[in-house]
Amino acid sequence: MRMSRHFLPVMKESPADAQIVSHKLMLRAGLIRQTAAGIYAWLPLGHRVLRKIEQIVREEQDRAGAIELLMPTMQSADLWRESGRYDAYGPEMLRIKDRHDREMLFGPTNEEMITAIFRDSARSYRDLPRTLYHIQWKFRDEVRPRFGVMRGREFLMKDAYSFDLDAEGARQSYNQMFVAYLRTFRRMGLSAIPMQADTGPIGGDLSHEFIVLAPTGESEVFYHENWEKDRSLAVDADDRAALQAFVGALTADYAATDEKRDLPREADAGDKLKQSRGIEVGHIFYFGTKYSKAMGMSVQGPDGQPVIPEMGSYGIGVSRLLGAIIEASHDDGGIIWPDAVAPYAVGLINMRADDARCAAAADDLYAKLQAAGVETLYDDRDERGGAKFATMDLIGLPWQIVIGPKGLDKGVVEVKRRATGEKVELSVEDALARVSG
Ligand code: ATP
Ligand code: MG
Repeated sequence: MRMSRHFLPVMKESPADAQIVSHKLMLRAGLIRQTAAGIYAWLPLGHRVLRKIEQIVREEQDRAGAIELLMPTMQSADLWRESGRYDAYGPEMLRIKDRHDREMLFGPTNEEMITAIFRDSARSYRDLPRTLYHIQWKFRDEVRPRFGVMRGREFLMKDAYSFDLDAEGARQSYNQMFVAYLRTFRRMGLSAIPMQADTGPIGGDLSHEFIVLAPTGESEVFYHENWEKDRSLAVDADDRAALQAFVGALTADYAATDEKRDLPREADAGDKLKQSRGIEVGHIFYFGTKYSKAMGMSVQGPDGQPVIPEMGSYGIGVSRLLGAIIEASHDDGGIIWPDAVAPYAVGLINMRADDARCAAAADDLYAKLQAAGVETLYDDRDERGGAKFATMDLIGLPWQIVIGPKGLDKGVVEVKRRATGEKVELSVEDALARVSG
Protein backbone atom coordinates (compact mmCIF):
# COMPACT_ATOMS: atom_id res chain seq x y z
CA MET A 1 0.00 0.00 0.00
CA ARG A 2 1.29 3.44 -0.91
CA MET A 3 1.23 5.88 1.97
CA SER A 4 0.42 8.73 -0.40
CA ARG A 5 -2.97 7.07 -1.02
CA HIS A 6 -3.55 5.62 2.43
CA PHE A 7 -5.54 6.95 5.38
CA LEU A 8 -3.10 6.98 8.31
CA PRO A 9 -3.82 9.98 10.49
CA VAL A 10 -0.82 9.92 12.84
CA MET A 11 -0.31 12.55 15.55
CA LYS A 12 2.98 14.09 16.62
CA GLU A 13 1.92 14.96 20.15
CA SER A 14 0.63 12.66 22.83
CA PRO A 15 -3.11 13.18 23.29
CA ALA A 16 -3.76 14.74 26.68
CA ASP A 17 -6.70 12.53 27.61
CA ALA A 18 -4.83 9.22 27.29
CA GLN A 19 -3.27 7.93 30.52
CA ILE A 20 -1.52 4.73 29.57
CA VAL A 21 1.08 4.15 26.89
CA SER A 22 -0.97 1.76 24.75
CA HIS A 23 -3.87 4.19 24.57
CA LYS A 24 -1.55 7.07 23.68
CA LEU A 25 0.20 5.05 20.99
CA MET A 26 -3.03 3.72 19.51
CA LEU A 27 -4.27 7.28 19.08
CA ARG A 28 -0.93 8.66 17.89
CA ALA A 29 -0.34 5.86 15.38
CA GLY A 30 -3.81 6.36 13.94
CA LEU A 31 -5.19 2.94 14.93
CA ILE A 32 -8.41 4.11 16.56
CA ARG A 33 -10.55 7.19 17.11
CA GLN A 34 -13.03 7.59 19.90
CA THR A 35 -16.52 8.33 18.60
CA ALA A 36 -18.33 8.36 21.99
CA ALA A 37 -17.25 7.45 25.53
CA GLY A 38 -15.74 3.95 25.40
CA ILE A 39 -16.69 3.49 21.74
CA TYR A 40 -14.07 3.47 19.00
CA ALA A 41 -13.80 3.52 15.24
CA TRP A 42 -11.08 1.21 13.95
CA LEU A 43 -8.99 3.14 11.44
CA PRO A 44 -7.30 1.19 8.62
CA LEU A 45 -4.08 0.32 10.47
CA GLY A 46 -5.88 -0.66 13.70
CA HIS A 47 -8.43 -2.61 11.71
CA ARG A 48 -5.71 -4.70 10.05
CA VAL A 49 -4.23 -5.61 13.45
CA LEU A 50 -7.66 -6.38 14.87
CA ARG A 51 -8.33 -8.77 11.97
CA LYS A 52 -4.98 -10.51 12.43
CA ILE A 53 -5.56 -11.03 16.12
CA GLU A 54 -9.06 -12.27 15.38
CA GLN A 55 -7.67 -14.74 12.84
CA ILE A 56 -5.15 -16.21 15.29
CA VAL A 57 -7.92 -16.61 17.85
CA ARG A 58 -10.10 -18.29 15.20
CA GLU A 59 -7.37 -20.70 14.06
CA GLU A 60 -6.65 -21.85 17.61
CA GLN A 61 -10.36 -22.26 18.39
CA ASP A 62 -10.76 -24.34 15.24
CA ARG A 63 -7.69 -26.38 16.11
CA ALA A 64 -9.22 -27.11 19.54
CA GLY A 65 -12.29 -28.50 17.78
CA ALA A 66 -14.62 -25.57 18.46
CA ILE A 67 -17.11 -24.68 15.72
CA GLU A 68 -17.67 -21.11 14.58
CA LEU A 69 -21.08 -19.48 14.16
CA LEU A 70 -22.28 -15.91 14.44
CA MET A 71 -24.96 -14.72 16.81
CA PRO A 72 -26.46 -11.23 16.69
CA THR A 73 -25.53 -8.32 18.94
CA MET A 74 -29.17 -7.52 19.70
CA GLN A 75 -31.01 -9.91 22.01
CA SER A 76 -34.48 -10.08 23.45
CA ALA A 77 -35.09 -9.45 27.14
CA ASP A 78 -37.34 -12.53 27.26
CA LEU A 79 -34.38 -14.77 26.49
CA TRP A 80 -32.58 -13.41 29.54
CA ARG A 81 -35.70 -13.81 31.66
CA GLU A 82 -35.47 -17.57 31.03
CA SER A 83 -32.21 -17.75 32.98
CA GLY A 84 -33.25 -15.12 35.51
CA ARG A 85 -30.34 -12.88 34.54
CA TYR A 86 -32.38 -10.05 33.03
CA ASP A 87 -33.09 -8.64 36.47
CA ALA A 88 -29.83 -9.85 38.02
CA TYR A 89 -27.53 -8.16 35.46
CA GLY A 90 -26.88 -4.62 36.61
CA PRO A 91 -26.70 -1.27 34.84
CA GLU A 92 -23.87 -2.58 32.63
CA MET A 93 -26.57 -4.03 30.40
CA LEU A 94 -27.71 -1.60 27.73
CA ARG A 95 -31.49 -2.00 27.57
CA ILE A 96 -33.36 -0.80 24.52
CA LYS A 97 -37.00 -0.76 23.37
CA ASP A 98 -37.96 -1.31 19.77
CA ARG A 99 -40.84 0.53 17.98
CA HIS A 100 -43.33 -2.07 19.22
CA ASP A 101 -42.23 -1.44 22.79
CA ARG A 102 -40.52 -4.82 22.97
CA GLU A 103 -37.64 -4.99 25.40
CA MET A 104 -34.29 -5.66 23.77
CA LEU A 105 -30.69 -5.44 24.86
CA PHE A 106 -27.25 -5.14 23.29
CA GLY A 107 -25.60 -8.42 24.32
CA PRO A 108 -22.91 -8.23 27.01
CA THR A 109 -22.37 -12.01 26.60
CA ASN A 110 -24.23 -14.94 25.00
CA GLU A 111 -24.80 -17.82 27.45
CA GLU A 112 -28.58 -17.55 27.16
CA MET A 113 -28.66 -17.28 23.38
CA ILE A 114 -26.33 -20.20 22.70
CA THR A 115 -28.14 -22.36 25.25
CA ALA A 116 -31.47 -21.63 23.54
CA ILE A 117 -30.04 -22.34 20.08
CA PHE A 118 -28.37 -25.59 21.11
CA ARG A 119 -31.33 -26.66 23.27
CA ASP A 120 -33.71 -26.33 20.34
CA SER A 121 -31.78 -28.77 18.16
CA ALA A 122 -29.66 -31.11 20.29
CA ARG A 123 -31.65 -34.29 20.89
CA SER A 124 -29.38 -37.08 22.06
CA TYR A 125 -26.01 -37.89 23.54
CA ARG A 126 -24.68 -38.17 19.96
CA ASP A 127 -25.08 -34.40 19.59
CA LEU A 128 -22.57 -33.91 22.42
CA PRO A 129 -19.87 -32.93 23.19
CA ARG A 130 -19.86 -29.71 21.17
CA THR A 131 -18.08 -26.39 21.64
CA LEU A 132 -19.48 -23.46 19.66
CA TYR A 133 -17.96 -20.02 19.39
CA HIS A 134 -18.35 -16.67 17.73
CA ILE A 135 -16.35 -13.46 17.46
CA GLN A 136 -18.78 -10.63 17.92
CA TRP A 137 -19.13 -7.13 19.34
CA LYS A 138 -20.35 -6.86 22.90
CA PHE A 139 -21.67 -3.88 24.78
CA ARG A 140 -21.23 -3.29 28.50
CA ASP A 141 -22.15 0.09 29.85
CA GLU A 142 -19.00 0.26 31.97
CA VAL A 143 -19.26 2.88 34.71
CA ARG A 144 -15.75 4.08 33.92
CA PRO A 145 -14.65 3.27 30.39
CA ARG A 146 -10.94 4.06 30.21
CA PHE A 147 -7.55 3.22 28.80
CA GLY A 148 -8.91 3.16 25.25
CA VAL A 149 -9.81 -0.30 23.98
CA MET A 150 -8.71 -1.89 27.26
CA ARG A 151 -11.96 -1.02 28.94
CA GLY A 152 -14.33 0.04 26.24
CA ARG A 153 -18.10 -0.07 26.29
CA GLU A 154 -18.33 -1.62 22.84
CA PHE A 155 -15.62 -4.27 22.38
CA LEU A 156 -14.87 -7.35 20.31
CA MET A 157 -14.93 -10.66 22.15
CA LYS A 158 -14.42 -14.27 21.18
CA ASP A 159 -16.84 -16.27 23.28
CA ALA A 160 -17.07 -20.06 23.17
CA TYR A 161 -19.54 -22.33 24.93
CA SER A 162 -19.13 -26.05 25.60
CA PHE A 163 -21.84 -28.68 26.09
CA ASP A 164 -20.93 -32.05 27.60
CA LEU A 165 -22.76 -35.09 28.93
CA ASP A 166 -21.00 -35.22 32.27
CA ALA A 167 -18.61 -33.37 34.53
CA GLU A 168 -15.62 -35.37 33.37
CA GLY A 169 -16.32 -34.48 29.73
CA ALA A 170 -16.81 -30.84 30.68
CA ARG A 171 -13.44 -30.85 32.38
CA GLN A 172 -11.88 -32.19 29.16
CA SER A 173 -13.52 -29.40 27.12
CA TYR A 174 -12.27 -26.88 29.68
CA ASN A 175 -8.74 -28.26 29.50
CA GLN A 176 -8.75 -28.13 25.70
CA MET A 177 -9.69 -24.45 25.79
CA PHE A 178 -7.06 -23.86 28.47
CA VAL A 179 -4.33 -25.12 26.15
CA ALA A 180 -5.84 -23.32 23.14
CA TYR A 181 -5.58 -20.07 25.12
CA LEU A 182 -1.92 -20.60 25.95
CA ARG A 183 -1.21 -21.22 22.26
CA THR A 184 -3.29 -18.25 21.14
CA PHE A 185 -1.52 -15.72 23.35
CA ARG A 186 1.92 -17.15 22.67
CA ARG A 187 1.38 -16.83 18.91
CA MET A 188 0.81 -13.11 19.50
CA GLY A 189 4.10 -12.80 21.35
CA LEU A 190 2.39 -12.57 24.73
CA SER A 191 3.06 -14.47 27.90
CA ALA A 192 -0.35 -14.79 29.56
CA ILE A 193 -0.37 -16.50 32.95
CA PRO A 194 -3.44 -18.61 33.78
CA MET A 195 -4.62 -17.66 37.26
CA GLN A 196 -7.30 -19.18 39.41
CA ALA A 197 -10.16 -16.75 39.47
CA ASP A 198 -13.52 -15.98 40.97
CA THR A 199 -16.43 -17.06 38.83
CA GLY A 200 -18.51 -13.96 39.64
CA PRO A 201 -22.05 -13.55 38.30
CA ILE A 202 -21.59 -16.24 35.64
CA GLY A 203 -21.52 -18.78 38.47
CA GLY A 204 -19.82 -22.16 38.78
CA ASP A 205 -16.75 -23.41 40.55
CA LEU A 206 -13.81 -23.67 38.15
CA SER A 207 -12.35 -20.64 36.46
CA HIS A 208 -9.09 -19.19 35.22
CA GLU A 209 -8.19 -15.72 34.05
CA PHE A 210 -5.34 -15.33 31.57
CA ILE A 211 -3.27 -12.37 32.67
CA VAL A 212 -0.58 -10.42 30.83
CA LEU A 213 1.70 -8.79 33.39
CA ALA A 214 1.88 -5.01 33.02
CA PRO A 215 2.27 -2.25 35.61
CA THR A 216 -0.73 -0.45 34.11
CA GLY A 217 -3.00 -3.50 34.37
CA GLU A 218 -6.23 -3.20 36.29
CA SER A 219 -6.01 -6.56 38.08
CA GLU A 220 -3.95 -7.26 41.19
CA VAL A 221 -2.36 -10.70 40.78
CA PHE A 222 -0.12 -13.17 42.61
CA TYR A 223 2.07 -15.72 40.94
CA HIS A 224 4.92 -18.05 41.66
CA GLU A 225 8.20 -16.89 40.16
CA ASN A 226 8.70 -20.38 38.74
CA TRP A 227 5.73 -19.86 36.43
CA GLU A 228 7.03 -21.54 33.31
CA LYS A 229 6.43 -19.13 30.52
CA ASP A 230 8.49 -21.07 28.01
CA ARG A 231 6.89 -24.45 28.72
CA SER A 232 6.33 -26.57 25.64
CA LEU A 233 2.68 -26.70 24.65
CA ALA A 234 3.08 -30.00 22.84
CA VAL A 235 0.39 -32.04 24.52
CA ASP A 236 -2.11 -34.38 22.89
CA ALA A 237 -5.40 -32.60 23.51
CA ASP A 238 -7.38 -35.78 22.81
CA ASP A 239 -5.51 -37.78 25.43
CA ARG A 240 -7.65 -36.93 28.45
CA ALA A 241 -5.26 -38.06 31.13
CA ALA A 242 -2.25 -36.39 29.52
CA LEU A 243 -4.16 -33.16 29.08
CA GLN A 244 -5.43 -33.19 32.65
CA ALA A 245 -1.91 -33.79 33.94
CA PHE A 246 -0.59 -30.95 31.77
CA VAL A 247 -3.21 -28.45 32.91
CA GLY A 248 -2.98 -29.72 36.47
CA ALA A 249 0.76 -29.07 36.57
CA LEU A 250 0.24 -25.57 35.24
CA THR A 251 -2.47 -24.71 37.72
CA ALA A 252 -0.96 -26.19 40.86
CA ASP A 253 -1.72 -23.21 43.08
CA TYR A 254 0.95 -21.08 41.59
CA ALA A 255 -1.05 -18.09 40.49
CA ALA A 256 -4.27 -16.36 41.37
CA THR A 257 -6.16 -13.12 41.07
CA ASP A 258 -6.75 -10.87 44.03
CA GLU A 259 -9.99 -12.55 45.18
CA LYS A 260 -8.20 -15.88 45.32
CA ARG A 261 -4.92 -14.64 46.78
CA ASP A 262 -5.06 -17.11 49.65
CA LEU A 263 -4.49 -19.96 47.23
CA PRO A 264 -0.84 -19.28 46.33
CA ARG A 265 -0.21 -18.20 49.92
CA GLU A 266 -1.39 -21.55 51.18
CA ALA A 267 0.78 -23.22 48.59
CA ASP A 268 3.66 -21.90 50.68
CA ALA A 269 5.34 -20.13 47.83
CA GLY A 270 7.20 -18.01 50.36
CA ASP A 271 9.46 -15.38 48.86
CA LYS A 272 8.93 -16.91 45.43
CA LEU A 273 5.45 -15.43 45.50
CA LYS A 274 5.37 -12.34 43.32
CA GLN A 275 2.76 -9.64 43.36
CA SER A 276 2.07 -7.66 40.22
CA ARG A 277 -0.55 -5.97 38.16
CA GLY A 278 -1.94 -7.50 35.02
CA ILE A 279 -4.33 -7.24 32.12
CA GLU A 280 -7.06 -9.86 31.83
CA VAL A 281 -7.04 -10.97 28.19
CA GLY A 282 -9.08 -14.13 28.61
CA HIS A 283 -11.35 -15.85 31.10
CA ILE A 284 -12.65 -19.41 31.12
CA PHE A 285 -15.41 -20.90 33.28
CA TYR A 286 -16.92 -24.25 34.01
CA PHE A 287 -20.37 -23.67 35.47
CA GLY A 288 -22.14 -27.02 35.14
CA THR A 289 -25.88 -26.99 34.54
CA LYS A 290 -26.59 -23.42 35.65
CA TYR A 291 -28.02 -22.32 32.28
CA SER A 292 -29.00 -25.67 30.77
CA LYS A 293 -31.12 -26.48 33.82
CA ALA A 294 -32.71 -23.04 34.18
CA MET A 295 -33.54 -23.00 30.48
CA GLY A 296 -34.99 -26.49 30.40
CA MET A 297 -32.40 -28.15 28.20
CA SER A 298 -31.96 -31.91 28.18
CA VAL A 299 -30.88 -34.62 25.75
CA GLN A 300 -31.46 -38.33 25.71
CA GLY A 301 -28.53 -40.15 27.31
CA PRO A 302 -27.05 -43.47 26.09
CA ASP A 303 -29.33 -45.34 28.52
CA GLY A 304 -32.43 -43.50 27.30
CA GLN A 305 -32.64 -41.33 30.39
CA PRO A 306 -32.66 -37.50 30.02
CA VAL A 307 -29.35 -35.76 30.71
CA ILE A 308 -28.91 -32.06 31.49
CA PRO A 309 -25.73 -30.93 29.69
CA GLU A 310 -22.77 -29.57 31.61
CA MET A 311 -21.56 -26.25 30.24
CA GLY A 312 -18.57 -23.96 30.23
CA SER A 313 -17.90 -20.56 28.66
CA TYR A 314 -14.64 -19.14 27.38
CA GLY A 315 -13.96 -15.49 26.54
CA ILE A 316 -11.07 -13.67 24.89
CA GLY A 317 -10.93 -9.87 24.74
CA VAL A 318 -9.98 -9.57 21.06
CA SER A 319 -9.99 -5.75 20.95
CA ARG A 320 -8.41 -5.48 24.42
CA LEU A 321 -5.52 -7.58 23.10
CA LEU A 322 -4.29 -4.70 20.93
CA GLY A 323 -3.78 -2.63 24.06
CA ALA A 324 -2.20 -5.55 25.93
CA ILE A 325 0.25 -6.29 23.09
CA ILE A 326 1.31 -2.64 22.90
CA GLU A 327 1.73 -2.43 26.69
CA ALA A 328 4.04 -5.45 26.41
CA SER A 329 5.87 -4.34 23.27
CA HIS A 330 6.86 -0.70 22.69
CA ASP A 331 9.72 1.74 23.24
CA ASP A 332 10.15 5.51 23.28
CA GLY A 333 9.79 5.62 19.51
CA GLY A 334 6.45 3.87 19.41
CA ILE A 335 4.87 0.47 18.90
CA ILE A 336 6.87 -2.71 18.21
CA TRP A 337 4.41 -5.15 16.62
CA PRO A 338 5.16 -8.86 16.96
CA ASP A 339 5.42 -10.26 13.41
CA ALA A 340 2.25 -12.34 13.73
CA VAL A 341 -0.07 -9.36 14.27
CA ALA A 342 1.75 -6.50 12.51
CA PRO A 343 -0.48 -4.51 10.13
CA TYR A 344 2.25 -4.79 7.47
CA ALA A 345 5.48 -6.79 7.61
CA VAL A 346 7.61 -4.12 5.96
CA GLY A 347 7.75 -0.34 5.85
CA LEU A 348 9.54 0.75 2.68
CA ILE A 349 10.96 4.25 2.90
CA ASN A 350 12.09 6.29 -0.03
CA MET A 351 14.41 8.88 1.56
CA ARG A 352 14.30 11.19 -1.43
CA ALA A 353 10.95 11.25 -3.22
CA ASP A 354 12.27 14.15 -5.32
CA ASP A 355 15.14 12.06 -6.72
CA ALA A 356 14.09 10.17 -9.85
CA ARG A 357 16.68 7.42 -9.34
CA CYS A 358 15.57 6.76 -5.72
CA ALA A 359 11.92 6.81 -6.72
CA ALA A 360 12.52 4.32 -9.52
CA ALA A 361 14.50 1.99 -7.22
CA ALA A 362 11.84 2.21 -4.49
CA ASP A 363 9.00 1.60 -6.97
CA ASP A 364 10.89 -1.42 -8.26
CA LEU A 365 11.51 -2.90 -4.81
CA TYR A 366 7.89 -2.23 -3.88
CA ALA A 367 6.77 -4.23 -6.92
CA LYS A 368 9.13 -7.06 -5.97
CA LEU A 369 7.87 -7.13 -2.38
CA GLN A 370 4.29 -7.28 -3.61
CA ALA A 371 5.13 -10.04 -6.05
CA ALA A 372 6.73 -11.99 -3.19
CA GLY A 373 3.52 -11.59 -1.15
CA VAL A 374 5.19 -9.46 1.53
CA GLU A 375 2.69 -7.04 3.07
CA THR A 376 4.33 -3.68 2.54
CA LEU A 377 3.55 -0.11 3.46
CA TYR A 378 5.44 2.11 1.03
CA ASP A 379 6.23 5.63 2.20
CA ASP A 380 6.38 7.32 -1.19
CA ARG A 381 5.34 10.71 0.16
CA ASP A 382 7.25 13.89 -0.50
CA GLU A 383 8.37 14.35 3.11
CA ARG A 384 11.66 14.73 4.96
CA GLY A 385 13.49 11.48 5.69
CA GLY A 386 13.50 12.20 9.43
CA ALA A 387 9.72 12.53 9.52
CA LYS A 388 9.35 9.26 7.64
CA PHE A 389 11.62 7.42 10.08
CA ALA A 390 9.69 8.75 13.06
CA THR A 391 6.39 7.69 11.55
CA MET A 392 7.68 4.19 10.75
CA ASP A 393 9.01 3.77 14.29
CA LEU A 394 5.71 5.02 15.71
CA ILE A 395 3.56 2.58 13.76
CA GLY A 396 5.96 -0.23 14.60
CA LEU A 397 6.20 -2.44 11.51
CA PRO A 398 8.69 -5.28 12.16
CA TRP A 399 11.01 -4.39 9.22
CA GLN A 400 12.02 -1.11 7.63
CA ILE A 401 13.80 -0.89 4.28
CA VAL A 402 15.35 2.46 3.47
CA ILE A 403 16.34 3.54 -0.02
CA GLY A 404 18.61 6.56 -0.41
CA PRO A 405 21.09 7.96 -2.93
CA LYS A 406 24.24 6.93 -1.00
CA GLY A 407 23.14 3.33 -0.73
CA LEU A 408 22.18 3.19 -4.37
CA ASP A 409 25.70 4.34 -5.29
CA LYS A 410 26.96 1.26 -3.41
CA GLY A 411 24.19 -0.98 -4.74
CA VAL A 412 22.60 -1.54 -1.30
CA VAL A 413 19.51 -0.70 0.72
CA GLU A 414 19.31 -0.45 4.51
CA VAL A 415 17.25 -3.02 6.40
CA LYS A 416 16.28 -2.24 9.99
CA ARG A 417 14.68 -4.58 12.50
CA ARG A 418 12.26 -2.44 14.52
CA ALA A 419 12.48 -4.54 17.71
CA THR A 420 16.26 -4.38 18.09
CA GLY A 421 17.14 -1.30 16.06
CA GLU A 422 19.75 -3.42 14.27
CA LYS A 423 20.57 -2.08 10.78
CA VAL A 424 22.29 -3.87 7.93
CA GLU A 425 23.10 -2.88 4.36
CA LEU A 426 22.03 -5.51 1.86
CA SER A 427 21.59 -5.91 -1.85
CA VAL A 428 17.98 -5.73 -3.02
CA GLU A 429 17.88 -9.52 -3.41
CA ASP A 430 19.25 -10.17 0.07
CA ALA A 431 16.92 -7.57 1.57
CA LEU A 432 13.97 -9.33 -0.06
CA ALA A 433 15.11 -12.66 1.31
CA ARG A 434 15.63 -11.22 4.80
CA VAL A 435 12.17 -9.70 5.18
CA SER A 436 10.31 -12.60 3.63
CA GLY A 437 12.14 -15.21 5.72
P1 ATP B 1 -13.16 -7.26 33.58
O1 ATP B 1 -12.94 -7.95 34.89
O2 ATP B 1 -11.91 -6.73 32.95
O3 ATP B 1 -14.27 -6.26 33.63
P2 ATP B 1 -14.85 -9.40 32.87
O4 ATP B 1 -14.36 -10.41 33.83
O5 ATP B 1 -16.10 -8.70 33.16
O6 ATP B 1 -13.69 -8.36 32.56
P3 ATP B 1 -15.44 -11.46 30.96
O7 ATP B 1 -16.90 -11.52 31.12
O8 ATP B 1 -14.60 -12.50 31.58
O9 ATP B 1 -14.94 -10.02 31.40
O10 ATP B 1 -15.14 -11.27 29.39
C1 ATP B 1 -14.18 -12.01 28.65
C2 ATP B 1 -13.04 -11.12 28.20
O11 ATP B 1 -13.52 -9.96 27.51
C3 ATP B 1 -12.22 -10.55 29.35
O12 ATP B 1 -11.25 -11.48 29.77
C4 ATP B 1 -11.61 -9.31 28.72
O13 ATP B 1 -10.42 -9.67 28.02
C5 ATP B 1 -12.65 -8.86 27.72
N1 ATP B 1 -13.40 -7.71 28.23
C6 ATP B 1 -14.31 -7.68 29.22
N2 ATP B 1 -14.79 -6.45 29.43
C7 ATP B 1 -14.17 -5.65 28.52
C8 ATP B 1 -14.25 -4.26 28.22
N3 ATP B 1 -15.06 -3.44 28.89
N4 ATP B 1 -13.46 -3.78 27.22
C9 ATP B 1 -12.64 -4.60 26.53
N5 ATP B 1 -12.54 -5.92 26.78
C10 ATP B 1 -13.28 -6.45 27.76
MG1 MG C 1 -13.46 -11.97 33.49
